Amino acid sequence: SCTYEKGKWGPLELLPYGPITMYPTAKVLHYAQEIFEGMKAYRVNGQGPFIFRPEENYLRFNRSAERMAMPHIPHNIFMDSVFELVSYTANFVPRRSGESLYLRPFMFATEESLGIKPAEKFRFMVIASASGSYFSNTSEGLSVYIERENARAFPGGTGFAKAGGNYAAGLSAAIKTKQLGFVQTLWLDARERKYIEEMSGMNVFVVINNELCTPKISDTILDGITRKSLIALARDSGYTVHEKNIDINELIEDIRAGRCTEAFACGTAAIITPINYFGESDGERIPLHFPEGKISMELREKLLAIQEGRVADTYKWIATVEPK
Ligand code: PMP
Repeated sequence: SCTYEKGKWGPLELLPYGPITMYPTAKVLHYAQEIFEGMKAYRVNGQGPFIFRPEENYLRFNRSAERMAMPHIPHNIFMDSVFELVSYTANFVPRRSGESLYLRPFMFATEESLGIKPAEKFRFMVIASASGSYFSNTSEGLSVYIERENARAFPGGTGFAKAGGNYAAGLSAAIKTKQLGFVQTLWLDARERKYIEEMSGMNVFVVINNELCTPKISDTILDGITRKSLIALARDSGYTVHEKNIDINELIEDIRAGRCTEAFACGTAAIITPINYFGESDGERIPLHFPEGKISMELREKLLAIQEGRVADTYKWIATVEPK
């Protein structure tokens, strides 16, 4: 944990997990001035711990900070807190393939005032928590509800930032998704309500005519680190990858006609999790022909092998932590 006041960051502190105190007027509680990151440390077979692409999380954190009128975090504070925490908890990092230590750096406005203006006092913290394999928990694949009414992000808004308020806005859709019998929500663009954007905590890829397609990054989509890594891995494995607008109604036609065979969600939590079917509010389901398709599973294995340190890190994506 570390605080920011009078234009300066204070010293880093290692604290036991427990409640924190804040004034009820802290701006974060009223105006949601909060940002976060999600990253993982791997320690399969006792090697490592390895952290996947932490520089990318650092850069994205500061892009989010800028959008939310918060101070940049210095590189050494972000990295030292993440690396120290993993180093101290190295013995608790799960060691089975697919398991990891999930890390959650976050920053929020603590300034005590109800005035609607940017805060000047902030707190940065990182918490760690052991995490199982998302894919093995959803072994029958993901069922994805197409949210055609509400939107998550708006052009010019905060959608590209990893800011708490974006997720609060999506929670009612999570309830609807569950009530309708689905697991994940697929968001469409706010303007035309027809181009697929992402899921509530994952980016999305589809395989059409054996080529990978994923929505282009814009100011309404989170620039996922897994997505970016998969584009590189897929291209280097000889696949064609298109970053383009994907019309949901055309996609449904492509699935029905057998042109779109696979679809998957990807992210730090999901790695790659195959999608079983898309569905509508009237209960209609559009199943994928190969929910655990060849391309999805090949890329999943390639990515996980790098993250877990099982193959040579030719991309220089892995940072090694010295256990304490
Ligand atoms: N979209 C959203 C909205 C997310 O919260 C996440 C998880 N960070 C992702 C996509 C995937 O991003 P990443 O691969 O960096 O975890």
